[in-house]
Amino acid sequence: MVDLIPSADTIMQILKRTGAFREGHFVYPNGKHSPHYFQMPLAFRYYDTARVLAVALSRKFRVDRDISSQLPKVSIISPSSGGIPVAFGVRDALSAEQIYWAEQEGGKRMFRQYINKGEVNPCIVVDDIIRSGQAIEETTSLVNELGANVIGCGAIVRFTSATDKLGDDVPIRSLVEFDAQMYDEGDECGDCKKNAPVEHVRF
Ligand SMILES: [Zn+2]
Repeated sequence: MVDLIPSADTIMQILKRTGAFREGHFVYPNGKHSPHYFQMPLAFRYYDTARVLAVALSRKFRVDRDISSQLPKVSIISPSSGGIPVAFGVRDALSAEQIYWAEQEGGKRMFRQYINKGEVNPCIVVDDIIRSGQAIEETTSLVNELGANVIGCGAIVRFTSATDKLGDDVPIRSLVEFDAQMYDEGDECGDCKKNAPVEHVRF
């Protein structure tokens, strides 16, 4: 089963081909400059690509006995809209029973109203990309408040600067571990030195 997981190189080729991985001179909302940017929904706009990525990620969970033994009584959870197609794809591949997603409401991450304590199965939190880990940590707190625990966590891409574990014992699984380069504006940034025009990104 593990052999069927595409290599990180293969995944990166998919992300490049679909425009989800971009090279240039980007300025992030925090002001940092970077020679690369991930716009993950561009990979998920193609159903076949979305399926390949989600099935590959699902296999990382399937091989975990603690997780597979609890199927199908599992919830797949997305921290935000970007993770929703990942959650649906992983749910399909694992035949998990439930899906939930959080959204930002007034600057705060929340689930929709009327989800009751005790209704949520043990959770696998999935996202398209983990840049800092803040989104999955906030989502884990929300899940815990609903009386459920997180048994798995993963994303298509994880920045190596982000956390690789949730709490003490839930490893974060990913198809690509990406060493993101972030620079301050100016001499530190190779593209600034070359006077390359900048592109501002919103997320
Ligand atoms: Zn720059």
